[in-house]
Amino acid sequence: MNSIILVLGCTGQDGSYLCKSLLQKNLSVIGVSRTSDPKRNNHIALGIENNFPIIKANLSDSYSIEKLINKYKPTKIYNLSAQSSVGQSFVQPLETQTSIVNTTFNLLETARKLNYQGEIFFAGSSEIYGNTTEPAEIDSKIDIRSPYAAAKYQSMILVKLYRETYNLRCMTGVLFNHESPLRGPNFVTQKIISGAINSTKNKSYKLRLGNINIIRDWGCAEEYVEAMQKIANSKTIKDYIICTGKPTKLKEFINLAFTKLNLDWKKHVISDKTFFRKNDIDISVGNASKIEQELNWRAKKKIPQLIEDLLIAKNAY
Ligand code: NAP
Repeated sequence: MNSIILVLGCTGQDGSYLCKSLLQKNLSVIGVSRTSDPKRNNHIALGIENNFPIIKANLSDSYSIEKLINKYKPTKIYNLSAQSSVGQSFVQPLETQTSIVNTTFNLLETARKLNYQGEIFFAGSSEIYGNTTEPAEIDSKIDIRSPYAAAKYQSMILVKLYRETYNLRCMTGVLFNHESPLRGPNFVTQKIISGAINSTKNKSYKLRLGNINIIRDWGCAEEYVEAMQKIANSKTIKDYIICTGKPTKLKEFINLAFTKLNLDWKKHVISDKTFFRKNDIDISVGNASKIEQELNWRAKKKIPQLIEDLLIAKNAY
């Protein structure tokens, strides 16, 4: 029988690319969403809207998860469901916690009770490391600076606990920032792309951002979902960092996007102190060597190409 893969958070950026990639490998996919009327715009963009069903489930309710596992008997479960914005997590700390920790705890506990033998992948976050003085490795110092990071860290601890205590085949992929045309409009990279396009249409357009001196390790979502699969398919069940290992200044990201449209970013971008985040992370970079050496996965797309993809997707050229 063809194996069935369950994808929690299937309508989001990564869930959509992951479902597409699994389908291309001829695997059967069951998507899971919180709502009975899930947004399929990302699936339409990728041409997969008719290729797999989406089941509504309340992921905070263990009975819902039990029903899913018993009915579909998935060989793997990808747990990508989350309120995924760091900024929003300051506005909705409890919802962020519930969406991440309750889902993960419920999933692990239900899997334990059912003696589930498949793999469970959890999408962790680089936010747990705060400022990285050295490129972060999996056991680098934890420095929690947002409700989102707190929820991701608690979930990662639970994943480790269930793996080590109950022998569940579960693992965390600690994801550094990754982008694509499917990234939500509230994320800074999409704000920059839209801001650059608006500036071509209106010479006096101003894009207000927070701290533009931050440094991040930005990768490509389509590549990162391949890394997730390598981790979930690996014989050795362990946590990995998923990153490029390359630091990029936000200012450089801005410069590249505006320059591609023949604009001078300094005329359009304002770093507005009122948008500065308390306790913001100045630098967040990962060490990619473990996943490269052990799983033969490597980030390929460079920032200029990623920016070009984002501009093309918005018909900027
Ligand atoms: P995304 O586009 O925001 O998708 C997450 C999905 O989770 C949503 O489509 C939504 O699907 C579901 N969800 C469950 N509870 C939610 C809530 N309270 N508010 C909003 N959505 C909720 O995220 P992504 O970029 O694909 O990221 C996938 C996973 O990787 C997430 O767990 C994220 O935290 C993690 N991650 C992402 C990055 C990144 O750079 N993208 C970096 C580190 C970690 P339904 O509405 O259909 O249920």
